[in-house]
Amino acid sequence: MDNKRNLKPVSPSQRVDFRCTRCGACCRYLRESVPLNTLDAFRLAKHLRARGEKINCLDSVFARFAEPVPLHESGYSVYMLKTASPDDACIFLQNSRCTIQPAKPSACRLYPFAVEPKGDGLYTYLLSMEKPHHFKGGQVQARRWMKENYPKEDREFMKVDMGTALDIVRLLMKIPEAERQQAWALFLWYKYADFDLDKPFLEQYRQNMTKLLAALRQITGGTIYGHKDGTNQTGF
Ligand code: SF4
Repeated sequence: MDNKRNLKPVSPSQRVDFRCTRCGACCRYLRESVPLNTLDAFRLAKHLRARGEKINCLDSVFARFAEPVPLHESGYSVYMLKTASPDDACIFLQNSRCTIQPAKPSACRLYPFAVEPKGDGLYTYLLSMEKPHHFKGGQVQARRWMKENYPKEDREFMKVDMGTALDIVRLLMKIPEAERQQAWALFLWYKYADFDLDKPFLEQYRQNMTKLLAALRQITGGTIYGHKDGTNQTGF
């Protein structure tokens, strides 16, 4: 979907001619390119469970529908939606339609826009120019699009995620070889698995990031300190 080479910055007030033609083109040739973050997976788990699927835990959602992609040599990984042959289409695409429309990941909701946090709760807005046939027949404004498709819960999640990422990377880099497997297991557990689907998400995520940082510090004897809410001031 979003390819860095095809993203161009736009101002929040800029109006863009964009109309979804429901052609499904944005959902093909996506290998390792649509992130499924923890909040996305939490919502997807609840959506599938409400539809009658047997979903008991978050890690089963990641295992079934996504694959880990290392972002960094430290082992810090994100999950991307799985794709299927022959055209590397998203596994949720059927007959050119999204089968999880109410619970699709934030990257899909935001498309054709994307956001990059600048700090201070502000964002750089980016426009994906990858599928130029969409840019006709209907004006959307970047700021308004974000307001409608990127609710407060997503923004708070992004804040905690970005606020903890750099410290997690630094700590993972300091882990001695002998303890690396244990550290990666802790990373995966707290970031992508240890969630109760019947409790509010954000508080659990904050607590998990705090626990993860504390556990990694204990292994490394590190001295990088975060705030109580699991954020720091370093940015990422
Ligand atoms: S989740 Fe839905 S909108 Fe997103 S890439 Fe897959 S099919 Fe397309």
